[in-house]
Amino acid sequence: IIRTPAKAAVSKPETHHHRRKQKLSSLCKTPPSVVRNRNGRGYHRGLFLGEGGFARCFQMKDETGRIFAAKTVAKASIKNEKTKTKLLSEIKIHKSMSHPNIVKFIDCFEDDVNVYILLEICPNHSLMDLLKHRKLVSEPEVRFFMTQIIGAVKYLHRRMVIHRDLKLGNIFFDPDMNLKIGDFGLATIINPPSRRRYTICGTPNYIAPEVLGGKKTGHSFEVDIWAIGIMMFALLFGKPPFQAKDVQIIYERIKHDEYAFPADSPVSEEARVLIRDLLNTDPTKRPSLDEILQYDWFTCGPFPSGVTVESLKREPRGI
Ligand code: ADP
Repeated sequence: IIRTPAKAAVSKPETHHHRRKQKLSSLCKTPPSVVRNRNGRGYHRGLFLGEGGFARCFQMKDETGRIFAAKTVAKASIKNEKTKTKLLSEIKIHKSMSHPNIVKFIDCFEDDVNVYILLEICPNHSLMDLLKHRKLVSEPEVRFFMTQIIGAVKYLHRRMVIHRDLKLGNIFFDPDMNLKIGDFGLATIINPPSRRRYTICGTPNYIAPEVLGGKKTGHSFEVDIWAIGIMMFALLFGKPPFQAKDVQIIYERIKHDEYAFPADSPVSEEARVLIRDLLNTDPTKRPSLDEILQYDWFTCGPFPSGVTVESLKREPRGI
């Protein structure tokens, strides 16, 4: 029942995968050992980095030894016009972005079988991988991560772009452990800003209630604020608030605001206050990005000066 543009709600909900006959990314052929861009510059294929619902990602090294990530999409998976339009939109939006906390778009080219989107490499995996290793993340670290994420989302929204698929698995670490938002596959430009979007899309655990309202309500920038709330909850409590085995149950819980803070958690009241406001069912009542940064949780708690690769495995000492 959930209509999904291109890869939409299939961008990693385990629950949806078993229903799909085949992931589109499985159509993606391993690129040849050297791929050339339009100017003839050669890129040597390296390690396989990962795969989403739509693309496979490989390391690529240029002639000077610089390493990039190539998001590889099989042409066989973009046969229909709608999928083609979606991919072109992803490229157009991502290409126009330039922010220290957004994965840098380098180039885009194709051969007979694949389209290659060359990106800044993020070799330290995503926030999802960090959470998997750590199980829980400390409040000062989450404060640090949230500040970077909010900075990038402010940049997006100022440019009238809604990301619509913000989630731990789409936020990567660069070599210096700065966060970079990636995957613009569901991003959309809102022009004029008052216009609403009606396509139901996103990843089940992160979908805002107004998105599930579909045609009746429409959605806008506030869906990204909601997703920030989901990520903050997941990092601090170890799992997203509306988690359930069945996707329909997740949606029911989201619509009816059915979540609870684990009783035995030491997470501060200030953090809970902020999460509660971010996860307001009424999008107009959620705080703005500037307001979020003024909450006590941001202004009164310790703030690390940086995060090191150590954080990927264990809680850093001394913060
Ligand atoms: P899809 O559009 O199919 O969801 P993603 O953009 O999520 O594809 O990329 C698929 C996978 O490739 C990611 O889960 C991640 O493991 C890896 N990946 C994507 N971008 C990068 C990058 N810039 N650096 C390193 N790995 C990346």
